[in-house]
Amino acid sequence: LTQLFRPLDMLGMVYRTIRQGLIDMAAMFKLMDEPQEVADAPGAPALVIRQPAVVFDNVTFGYDPDRTILHGLTLEIAAGSKVAIVGPSGAGKSTIARLLFRFYDPQGGRILIDGQDIRLVTQISLRAALGIVPQDSVLFNDTIGYNIAYGRDGADLSDVEAAARAAALMPLIERLPKGFETEVGERGLKLSGGEKQRVAIARTLVKNPPIVLFDEATSALDTRTEQDILSTMRGLAEQRTTISIAHRLSTIADSDRIFVLDQGRLVESGGHLELLRRDGLYAEMWNRQAAEQGDLSEAAE
Ligand code: ADP
Ligand code: MG
Repeated sequence: LTQLFRPLDMLGMVYRTIRQGLIDMAAMFKLMDEPQEVADAPGAPALVIRQPAVVFDNVTFGYDPDRTILHGLTLEIAAGSKVAIVGPSGAGKSTIARLLFRFYDPQGGRILIDGQDIRLVTQISLRAALGIVPQDSVLFNDTIGYNIAYGRDGADLSDVEAAARAAALMPLIERLPKGFETEVGERGLKLSGGEKQRVAIARTLVKNPPIVLFDEATSALDTRTEQDILSTMRGLAEQRTTISIAHRLSTIADSDRIFVLDQGRLVESGGHLELLRRDGLYAEMWNRQAAEQGDLSEAAE
């Protein structure tokens, strides 16, 4: 896996950023079906990351001016930490991801990465620093190897293989007569939702960005595979900051910090046990999901 951490030379970096920018946008646009609305500030410098800390500082945002979605939201995410954002559907979790990628600008407050306001840096440098594993991954009608290598210009077979292994794709690839050369998509092999997600995870591993966002990334995976992949992702780099937007709380219980969002407001934050003891919204969601899990395992018996 050490090959994934090779420093990039600057020329490769420019290519990679443009191509990766495109694929992240493809993924995000699929999530939000909205055109891009923001532009670089004149003479904007590139984002420079030494410590990938992320701060939402009193952020207020609405897609429409007359309907506020995030109400003065403040989140402090330490560099290298593994955090989760949870909350009921419609709370604004995916909106946070879209703002971090700067598909929209907030109406109030600021978003900082390593102390730099993301409105004041180039979008290409911003998106180079961010990886996303979205809910619905976009695959090209090309080989499975190409789809993984797309994470970084100049990725070679050993990079692709290491990423595929970490994303638990090797059992699938070893079953295919043409292996990484197998065509996928409309004119090739149909992959399941979980397999597509693993390709997206492998692609992100090849890109190796300092900040990674999972938006309900593991929802199409079974619990066992999900746990395997999450622990692999977490173990990959000490200095990587990961933000998981999760519905299934069992997958994020070991986060350094959990932010609980409700109707665009931060209502609780802390570690799993701390939040259970608080007996608030998190504890309620946890208990409900535990009961549902119990029902499922009873039904299976
Ligand atoms: P979550 O991810 O927590 O389920 P979202 O961030 O997707 O919630 O959505 C928060 C709110 O913003 C919801 O009420 C949703 O209907 C609204 N919303 C999401 N995307 C758009 C959009 N492109 N235009 C207008 N409203 C939107
Ligand atoms: Mg969402």
